[in-house]
Amino acid sequence: MRPTGKLHLGHLVGALANWIELQKSHPCIFSIVDWHAYMGEYEQSKGIKENIIDMAVDWLACGIDPDKSILFVQSEVPEHLELAMIFGSLTPLGWLERNPTYKEQLREITTRDLQTFGFLGYPVLQAADILLYKANAVPIGEDQLPHLELTREIARRFNYLYKKEIFPDCEAILTQTPRLLGLDGRKMSKSYQNAINLSDSSDMIKSRAKQMVTDPQRVRLADPGHPEVCNVYSYYNVFFSEKSPEVYEWCTKAQKGCTDCKAILADALIQYLAPIQQKREELLKNPKRIREILDEGQKKARAIARQTMLEVKEAIF
Ligand code: SF4
Repeated sequence: MRPTGKLHLGHLVGALANWIELQKSHPCIFSIVDWHAYMGEYEQSKGIKENIIDMAVDWLACGIDPDKSILFVQSEVPEHLELAMIFGSLTPLGWLERNPTYKEQLREITTRDLQTFGFLGYPVLQAADILLYKANAVPIGEDQLPHLELTREIARRFNYLYKKEIFPDCEAILTQTPRLLGLDGRKMSKSYQNAINLSDSSDMIKSRAKQMVTDPQRVRLADPGHPEVCNVYSYYNVFFSEKSPEVYEWCTKAQKGCTDCKAILADALIQYLAPIQQKREELLKNPKRIREILDEGQKKARAIARQTMLEVKEAIF
């Protein structure tokens, strides 16, 4: 995960919840990929350092367990860049230029100049991140499948060129991610300022919930609403599905107004985030411990990475 800002509810349901389940059944390696953040934000890179610690705190508060999983910062394991350079040498340019995410981001992101060598090579570094640990599975959403396919192609090309089966065929663990839009109904994104962050105060959550878009046809309190088109209702479905039938009823029968419906949602979200925020507070009281956890993770990750690089160099030279 790229440390580009505060984690929000979308990160929780879209990634972290799945990771926490996954670490119960698999040995997992989770990386805060600061080089990837740098590639996209090289002109304003100063905040990345702060975001790394903030991200580690959020992960731990949500339930990533350093006793079960390896948690580390990408730039603290230099082998990532070393392997990326090697993969970059053997990856045909056409594979990268065809990448649909690359084309889409170049079109959509207009505030930063991403016409760079590094940004084109983003999936090569991603392949190094995965293959350095010989990962045989990666939890991803369907939209990331082309990236993983590229990782698999790079692994096969390396194995073929040097006639050694060093890298495994890495599978996708396709995760079910509930659709959670931003408060304004657009894609949830830091740049749109349309998300509820995991660390937001109660007042902030209440005020953000008030901004949520609802059923546009429900103008007066007496108008029956259409929950199926309402963003507030979709939040109930994702976080408090047991309450959805009740919300459906009060909405379609015009028993409650949207202001009340949002206020009830805000209160429920405050309760929902309370244990995470409490754990967050405790962790922040002891920043030394967070650093220790990242250092321990770095040592474990680096031991694997070094071994892989020995094998890689032996195969190449
Ligand atoms: Fe949406 Fe609730 Fe208003 Fe119905 S009552 S339109 S579910 S905010």
